[in-house]
Amino acid sequence: MRIAILADIHANLTAFEAVLADVKSRGGVDEYWCLGDIVGYGPDPRECISLLQKVCKVCVVGNHDRAAAGKIDTSDFNPRAAEANEWTAKQLSLQDIRYLSNLPLTIEKSEFTLAHGSPRDPIWEYLFSVIEASENLEAFSTPYCLVGHTHQPVVFTFSRFGDSKVTKLVHESEVILAEKRLILNPGGIGQPRDGDPRASYGIYDSSIRTFTLYRVPYDIKAVQARMHEHGLPAMLISRLEVGR
Ligand code: ZN
Repeated sequence: MRIAILADIHANLTAFEAVLADVKSRGGVDEYWCLGDIVGYGPDPRECISLLQKVCKVCVVGNHDRAAAGKIDTSDFNPRAAEANEWTAKQLSLQDIRYLSNLPLTIEKSEFTLAHGSPRDPIWEYLFSVIEASENLEAFSTPYCLVGHTHQPVVFTFSRFGDSKVTKLVHESEVILAEKRLILNPGGIGQPRDGDPRASYGIYDSSIRTFTLYRVPYDIKAVQARMHEHGLPAMLISRLEVGR
């Protein structure tokens, strides 16, 4: 079975469509799994929810999804994220809000646990360091865990002997899923933050037990123009082209 792993679409329809086209060009997949933050920051929240609903039946909730649905308050957001959230919330229909509100915090699928931030704190925790990641090992019982939230593609690997490491993933990096437990982040589709502005996602092929990361160029200028039209914060517009 082949599964596309998506995270942090962030209302960027152009990037999302480019990723779906890339999946198709690689022979397609049997399932899509999504790690949350469908909306927030970008100009196309409703379109992204509707397209995701069409292709993906397995999705956990992110902090921006919760905030847009009015389920958490945004006092912990930075001011620009809060401003974008306010705009996003106004765009959503009741059905959109119901959909976002009903997304679960975590999902277990075969050997994987899916969570937006981390398994022990799915809404808020960012996994940047090996220490934070290893503290989460007791919070999930499957061998592997998939997270998003940082918008940076990495894999944390843990061996039985206690040595752990984090490896950055780039275009066409392969991760073989073997006996070591691991926490994998496919990077962000709609707002990458690792210095590479291309959309980031991955495909897991269970027949060869390999996850491959892909980076996909998309029309950033077109997205920036729509954000500008909607009066979204300038810093959120400019960061797309640098991927930070
Ligand atoms: Zn995010």
